[in-house]
Amino acid sequence: MTVLAFVEDPSDELSQQAVVMARSIDGDVAPVAIDPSGGYAPAAWAQTLVELAQSRGASAVVAPGSERGNEILAHVAAKLDQPMAANCVSVTPGAPATVTRVRWGGSLLEEAQVHGSPLLLTSAAHAVAAEPIDEVETVTATGSDADRVVHVSEQIPESTSGVSLTDADVVVSGGRGVGSAEGFSVIEELAELLGGAVGCSRAVTSAGWRPHSDQVGQTGSKVSPEIYIACGISGATQHMAGVKGAKRLLAINPDGEASIFAGADYAVIGDLHEVVPAISAEIRKARGS
Ligand SMILES: Cc1cc2nc3c(=O)[nH]c(=O)nc-3n(C[C@H](O)[C@H](O)[C@H](O)COP(=O)(O)OP(=O)(O)OC[C@H]3O[C@@H](n4cnc5c(N)ncnc54)[C@H](O)[C@@H]3O)c2cc1C
Repeated sequence: MTVLAFVEDPSDELSQQAVVMARSIDGDVAPVAIDPSGGYAPAAWAQTLVELAQSRGASAVVAPGSERGNEILAHVAAKLDQPMAANCVSVTPGAPATVTRVRWGGSLLEEAQVHGSPLLLTSAAHAVAAEPIDEVETVTATGSDADRVVHVSEQIPESTSGVSLTDADVVVSGGRGVGSAEGFSVIEELAELLGGAVGCSRAVTSAGWRPHSDQVGQTGSKVSPEIYIACGISGATQHMAGVKGAKRLLAINPDGEASIFAGADYAVIGDLHEVVPAISAEIRKARGS
């Protein structure tokens, strides 16, 4: 039976990996892309996949473990009222199918049985080697007006001023302990003095204090600076998943028991609103400015 493989773009490595994983379920794989000219609308794109899966009697639908792949397949699962397994590293077809999937920001692998038909899963990034996709069918998105309520209406290119988070040698990052959007002025000041970039935790983006593009972690950017300065961040596994590449970690937190200190090279037990301006003042003094 056909396995439908959702392809974001034929040249996209994660999509190529999803097709390879789809082949491990059944040799008869139909790679399908959706014409993006109508704008990205997750529920409408999911409805398109649902209709294709039903008309072709697909035994499984596989998507890349990217933000869009996971989002669209979650919609497919909701529409079909079936379970979905995200970020799988391997799959053994059957009834039920058995999958091994990545959990907790890559800190554990879980073996799970997926009861449901069609089998719905996304492939974890880089779990299998990518191979070029020979042929991709591009279809037009279907879906009702209700499916298009959430859609991309405009794309604003990222500002190119300043240092990018992923390339920065220094990242000064703030968490819930910063207390407010305005509280980030001390973080911004230190980052600027050090020629670095500002990062933050998900607690901060969830509160609307900073944009998602500043978020570091499992569902944000992975950074690899010479030094990561974590201010008011507790050190949750999902945050640390984005910090693994940092050469050195300086943590500033009044709670000496905070788990951020377990992975820190330098620790300051204290209030960031006192410590961070004091560091900036010392840098200015040393530079005579
Ligand atoms: C599926 C999933 C994905 C996730 N992805 C991410 C992700 O990509 N990135 C991410 O960050 N999180 C992610 N999270 C959320 C994560 O689990 C934590 O909830 C989050 O990282 C906590 O953010 P925080 O450390 O800022 O806040 P908290 O855990 O609330 O910690 C705040 C810290 O600030 C300290 N503090 C308080 N006042 C001060 C002060 N004056 N000075 C200094 N320190 C102070 C406190 O002692 C505390 O340690 C994810 C969660 C899930 C379930």
